[in-house]
Amino acid sequence: MKSDNHNLPDKNGFFGEYGGKFVPETLMYALEELETTYKNLKDNIEFKDQFYKDLSEFVGRPSPLYFAKRLTKHYGSGSIWLKREDLNHTGAHKINNTIGQILLAKYMGKKRIIAETGAGQHGVATATVAARLGLECHIYMGSEDVQRQSLNVYRIKLLGAQVHAVDSGSATLKDALNEALRDWVTNVDDTYYIIGSVTGPHPYPMIVRDFNSVVGEELITQSKELFNAMPDAIVACVGGGSNAMGAFYPFIKFNETRLIGVEAGGEGIETGEHAAPLNDGAPGVLHGSLSYLMQDNSGQVKGTKSVSAGLDYPGVGPEHSWLKDSGRAEYVAVSDDAALKAFHEVSEMEGIIPALETAHAFAYLDTLMKEFDINSNIIVNVSGRGDKDINTVADIDGIKI
Ligand SMILES: *Cc1c(COP(=O)(O)O)cnc(C)c1O
Repeated sequence: MKSDNHNLPDKNGFFGEYGGKFVPETLMYALEELETTYKNLKDNIEFKDQFYKDLSEFVGRPSPLYFAKRLTKHYGSGSIWLKREDLNHTGAHKINNTIGQILLAKYMGKKRIIAETGAGQHGVATATVAARLGLECHIYMGSEDVQRQSLNVYRIKLLGAQVHAVDSGSATLKDALNEALRDWVTNVDDTYYIIGSVTGPHPYPMIVRDFNSVVGEELITQSKELFNAMPDAIVACVGGGSNAMGAFYPFIKFNETRLIGVEAGGEGIETGEHAAPLNDGAPGVLHGSLSYLMQDNSGQVKGTKSVSAGLDYPGVGPEHSWLKDSGRAEYVAVSDDAALKAFHEVSEMEGIIPALETAHAFAYLDTLMKEFDINSNIIVNVSGRGDKDINTVADIDGIKI
């Protein structure tokens, strides 16, 4: 059952036609230095031991694979299992990647850390690992998001990092990314840029995937232990695509497991008001890589709409574009309304308040569970906890807190 195509990217950083390094010449050397360092370290025993030790001692891994009894009963078909990334330190999967990349920074002797953030989760995860190692840290965040996510802004500051509000463009994640890239071009000698998803120029999509793959690796072991089979499907939400890629990647070669990515359908795909490039986009270049992208007829990046700040991004990691075209993974979208309904249902039925991003994955169970029988096992990747979203949901529900 081996798929022979899971050794991507190729030496130029492409997954089929997607990926690459579309960056200014000044960054080419930095990207090559990063790639060489990573290739030398990734199978180094000492490096790997340190990575897994940090994940265990500081993050609390492995995260449980947990049987969702009431959700399973509710749908009355297959067993639903939850991969509890929400239980990680800082409350989401993002710390898996920042723990790995800060180790790379340390091996490379970089003293200054920069990162972009949208909802603030990657900013928090980066500021956390920088504090732990005593490194200077700068977080770029769109000024619109600084307003919307004031709690995370303050968390980042408490952790000793500096927040830079970005006013250009739509003043959201894509503009923060532009600004972080600009900083990197200027300060490339002493600065390490921790990208937060499987996006950006090669080698980032590969590096972020590999560090998050600890999730899928644990799932292989846990599935054997808990139901003695490979799962029939793994469902994960897709913004840039790192939590999904981490869960999917070790399973690409097991064709019996369906891999399902759920994008943010916003007001509905048909309205154009969404953040679902794999469902309603076309190949184009954004932030250094070629991938499906929401763009207008002249190739300009289109505005996005989603109730979930972490999914509100017009692009997606190039490996997902490859998985879509090859048919190995399926990509669907659910609306804001459906995600909000799932947010409430999962909270009430399982005692777990999921992130609004994660609620998109849960919402797709309404469709998916009809396709499975009682003997099947479905895993939902619970990418993060919902505490950060409580104000947003209360506002929508018209409740003052
Ligand atoms: C950032 C975030 C996402 C979206 O990012 P991906 O790279 O697509 O995983 C999803 N869920 C949570 C909880 C997040 O913080």
